[in-house]
Amino acid sequence: MIFLDAAATTPVRREVLEAMWPYLSGDFGNPSSHHSLGEAAATALAGARTAVARVLKCRAGEVTFTSGGTEADNLAVKGIALARKASDETLNRVVISAVEHPAVEESARYLERVHGFAVDVVPVDQDGLVSVGALRAVLRPETALVSIMYANNEVGTVQPVAELAAAAHEFGVPFHTDAVQAAGWLSLDTKALGVDALSMSGHKLGAPKGSGVLFAKGRVRLEPLVHGGGQERGKRSGTENVAGAVALSTALTLAAAEENTAAEQVSGMRDRFIASILAGVPGAVLTGHPVRRLPSVASFCFPGTSGESVLLELERLGVICSSGSACAAGSDAPSPVLLALGLDPETAQTAVRFSFTPDITEAELEQAAAAVATAVGRVRNLAQT
Ligand code: PLP
Repeated sequence: MIFLDAAATTPVRREVLEAMWPYLSGDFGNPSSHHSLGEAAATALAGARTAVARVLKCRAGEVTFTSGGTEADNLAVKGIALARKASDETLNRVVISAVEHPAVEESARYLERVHGFAVDVVPVDQDGLVSVGALRAVLRPETALVSIMYANNEVGTVQPVAELAAAAHEFGVPFHTDAVQAAGWLSLDTKALGVDALSMSGHKLGAPKGSGVLFAKGRVRLEPLVHGGGQERGKRSGTENVAGAVALSTALTLAAAEENTAAEQVSGMRDRFIASILAGVPGAVLTGHPVRRLPSVASFCFPGTSGESVLLELERLGVICSSGSACAAGSDAPSPVLLALGLDPETAQTAVRFSFTPDITEAELEQAAAAVATAVGRVRNLAQT
């Protein structure tokens, strides 16, 4: 089986499992307990926070552990917008892009539905890119927050985050980025990016599902969403997932050390994979930006098929991939991301996304490209009979 669905999730790395194991077994303490077991857990949690801060180039106190990318996005979007509105009633608009993950988009819609915010959606071009000009056009004195993702989960387009954050700051507006797909592939240096908040998720880079991080810059106020015992400096109550935090910090540290070589190697393979699909599958269309894309994502539309049928056929041929985001899988509706890129609904329904782990090999991708040509041919033949 060739696994080409790493943007959905990844297996837990052995080093990560080994690092987290003690906190699931012998050192199982609650970090809030005042005995040796509790202290061991608290020390592990502090170490994990420092390790994450080292990669994000921030202070440990700016790192909040969450239950994953979705919670980190919710905490950033709702938490920052609500705190700003509490300090100034007129700050009642949020800006998101047209290609955000539902964790951001639905958080903004919640603010609109329940808290009376207006949501301004910045359009993208046909490659999925947000321009600084388009962002500037929607910024207003009432804007409480801008949230624009670092890299798209369906088509892999990488946004000019530093430029977008700088534009938001010209208007005095804090900038959040969803870096869930970027983590492990692109630099997460929050200083160089100039972001005020950044979310990431452990399970996209070899830690277990259910671990995440929100970086929020010291001066950014956050209204907590989960209330209780005041853990995570009051930003996220609940007994901490110590093993999850250790796992995420280990995976992130390993990924950061490997980032440059993995990104370079995998993007070369991705480009050869894209070239062989475009050459070998008549009518295949690459979606997303041709150059500014994640090293790990190659996404296409195959007109005359249905994405779901191509997936099934590919699985029979030993290749696992996805028709878009894992969240939308199984849904009949065309992807809002592809529609935002200007694709018609019929073409959008023929989308297939291939996403790679850093250990993908050239031979696997060659085999997969041949399987794609076969699968698309079979689905098209069936459609004609
Ligand atoms: N944001 C993006 C861009 C994602 O791709 C995902 C997951 O696919 C999430 C957020 C949600 O992360 P999690 O699965 O950890 O909740």
